[in-house]
Amino acid sequence: MTTDHDTETMPADADCLFCKIVAGDVPADVVASNDRVIAFRDINPQAPMHVLVVPREHYGDIAQLAAGAPDLLADVVALADEVASEQADGQFRLIFNSGPHAGQSVFHVHGHVLGGAHLGWSPA
Ligand code: 5GP
Repeated sequence: MTTDHDTETMPADADCLFCKIVAGDVPADVVASNDRVIAFRDINPQAPMHVLVVPREHYGDIAQLAAGAPDLLADVVALADEVASEQADGQFRLIFNSGPHAGQSVFHVHGHVLGGAHLGWSPA
């Protein structure tokens, strides 16, 4: 069975920071990767484990990813779980900021994988 995602790929955005990290043009501390998704440490960590999980293809936010390539969203979640299993006993918080008011500053979808400590709850 084929899906739209099997036959269409999103072009990289020349101005996108995370497309540049995916391409290796901007350095990052990569902790896990496969042919569809890459995980690297956040440059400004908010928890002992703070890793960003990013599809290699450019989608702007989680809603665009879910609509365009739900299988790829599942790959993002799976790599988040893999990283947390290695670094935080498999326990993690996975956050997708969507839009500037929600705190999104890089418009290439990414999951924040947070863990390694007891996390409080005060997102606002
Ligand atoms: P957002 O605010 O879009 O939800 O998350 C963007 C994240 O990217 C922030 O947590 C920020 O610290 C991180 N970030 C910004 N620039 C870089 C960078 O050049 N390298 C890495 N590894 N993380 C970055």
